[in-house]
Amino acid sequence: MADNLETMLSVDAALDRVLAAFTRLPAERISIRDGLGRVLAEPVSAQHDLPPFANSSMDGYAVRAADVASAAEGAPVTLAVVGDIPAGGMPAFMVGAGQAARIMTGAPMPDGADAVVPVERTAGGAHSGRLIGAAPDRIAIVKGTPPGSYVRLPGEDVKTGQEVLAAGRVLRAADLGVLAGLGVPIIPVIRRPRVAIISTGDELLNADQPLTSGKIRDTNGYTLYALVQELGAQPAFLGIARDTADDFNDRLSMARRWEADLILSSAGVSVGAYDMVKSVVGAAGALNFWKVNLRPGKPLAFGHVFQIPFVGLPGNPVSAMVTFDVFVRPAILKMMGKPPTTHLVEAETGEPIVSDGRQSYLRVTLTRQGERLIAHTTGNQSSGVLTSLVNADGLLIVPAGTTNVPAGTRLSVRVYGY
Ligand code: AMP
Ligand code: MG
Repeated sequence: MADNLETMLSVDAALDRVLAAFTRLPAERISIRDGLGRVLAEPVSAQHDLPPFANSSMDGYAVRAADVASAAEGAPVTLAVVGDIPAGGMPAFMVGAGQAARIMTGAPMPDGADAVVPVERTAGGAHSGRLIGAAPDRIAIVKGTPPGSYVRLPGEDVKTGQEVLAAGRVLRAADLGVLAGLGVPIIPVIRRPRVAIISTGDELLNADQPLTSGKIRDTNGYTLYALVQELGAQPAFLGIARDTADDFNDRLSMARRWEADLILSSAGVSVGAYDMVKSVVGAAGALNFWKVNLRPGKPLAFGHVFQIPFVGLPGNPVSAMVTFDVFVRPAILKMMGKPPTTHLVEAETGEPIVSDGRQSYLRVTLTRQGERLIAHTTGNQSSGVLTSLVNADGLLIVPAGTTNVPAGTRLSVRVYGY
């Protein structure tokens, strides 16, 4: 590998190497209460029908449809009410010819009945009070209903044995409802990746510390933490390492003790006099590459420490976030068993752009002009200007090898916040 270390990799080649180091994490069992957004590790099949029994979809009267076929406003059909079926009960009687049972929504259909007449179709309608208090002895039906109407059949939602959710499914609210309905409170899902985050730099202060001369506040420690959280992975911030090998080594050991699945650091990865990240990682583990042909973010180190994949992101705040998006996000998604989808749209550049030939990710706003989508850069594109990302709708990708992009050029944009 040593001969490769100084090679400048293309974004795609670097991403391939990164992704090769990750596999899907094992499953764990969790409550469906915590299932939102998690990835189902095994398919789930129904152990019983949903609904489990035939039941009424209306408040009204369970009847034999043939008895009331002729019912009309001027010629009601009067039936003897032989019972009352609230939701949750199970009727012990049967509805015979000329008979009806009062029934509530969700209550089981009694034997003998094949349809429900909604209370609105009885004499006096919904306001007659026939649903309040004890059931009446007799009920006059003023409009008939075909067999099967207002009856929810067993299995009409889910049939016994049916696979309702496939392995790999990213669980949504409705999925969790179906699991609850099927009596599956505990499910196997892919474990959430544990991502350790280390900021490095003698100049860095925490957000709650007063500014002193020559210092700036650590922003990467917060943005990277949030990006990890946004993906549904589990971040831990291991603090700010000073620009010494010892301090950085200590934090790598903390990451090992925490059993990280991935260690992320920012800064100290370039060619500066105090950039010790590469040498520490090379000594404690192995460095795979550290130069990628992209902007912002050329110094990007990838390797392993203690068998744990390690990504040394660049220090500049925009570079750290952009390289996270391009390299770390797909790696985390792979560990989670999620497809590495990125939301790309085509847009026209709103102004001419000059690039340096590296694959470049420019922060842009997107505006609609009729059918066209126009991308305007968000002002100063320096990799230190974090507000260029605050104001951005996405990242415009200028391909490697391109130096001049005239206004009106169609290019891809990675959209944020979809
Ligand atoms: P370096 O890669 O260490 O040379 O850092 C590149 C630039 O990013 C320098 O201007 C650093 O001050 C800045 N920087 C490094 N780490 C952070 C951080 N955690 N938050 C904000 N800026 C940082
Ligand atoms: Mg530094």
